[in-house]
Amino acid sequence: MTALIAGRDVHKRYVLGKENFVDALRGASLEVEEGEMVAIIGPSGSGKSTLLHIMGCLDSLNSGEVWLAGRRVDTLGRRDLTQLRRKEVGFIFQTFNLVPSLTAIENVALAAQYAGKGRRAREAARQVLGQVDLADRENHRPPELSGGQQQRAAIARALVNKPKVIFGDEPTGNLDSASSGEIVRMMRQINRETGTTFVLVTHDPEVASACDRVIHMLDGKVTPQLL
Ligand code: ADP
Repeated sequence: MTALIAGRDVHKRYVLGKENFVDALRGASLEVEEGEMVAIIGPSGSGKSTLLHIMGCLDSLNSGEVWLAGRRVDTLGRRDLTQLRRKEVGFIFQTFNLVPSLTAIENVALAAQYAGKGRRAREAARQVLGQVDLADRENHRPPELSGGQQQRAAIARALVNKPKVIFGDEPTGNLDSASSGEIVRMMRQINRETGTTFVLVTHDPEVASACDRVIHMLDGKVTPQLL
């Protein structure tokens, strides 16, 4: 069986000026199987977010191969890439990134509309908000929700199009320990019940210990002895 996600010898250089660049990834390789929940850890600046964004079709690479759900991402054009991302990928962020002027259900429904759900978007949004125990807060706007509730709404938004994988960039980084625990348990439960794969960049030992596996990064590479 082929992996759901595979990165092979991925290089990424950010060019800042004529002789000013950063080699964020220097030959990173990894595989993630469908249904896994994995953490990516490593020092700040080791390339974790860059790799996450590349696997999630949010950023391009300079060389190497990236595969997602049977498609070779690094050879796809912009339109195909956007389609693949909308169909197969959900994202959650440290700062939740909800639209502050929209209610919880409108935030989630918007993602469903982008994916072409049309009039069924609101119903789909209501269903996933129930899944994250936020049914009674669907008409609240983000400023009226706690951090944990905002992250649950963001998880609902990530889930609404039934993606194969949810990528999280420090999903508990802005939460107190009680809310972090709640979010970790919720991701674990969704993973077990729906088989959605989770790939989580984290500094939080509680997140790492809840995962099936921990991938370590250092200096733009996945450390090989732990592959
Ligand atoms: P981590 O997530 O492990 O902290 P990042 O992937 O964010 O690491 O960053 C890896 C390196 O790439 C860092 O040196 C960072 O400063 C640099 N970097 C990340 N994003 C950009 C960008 N958009 N432009 C320029 N440099 C960047």
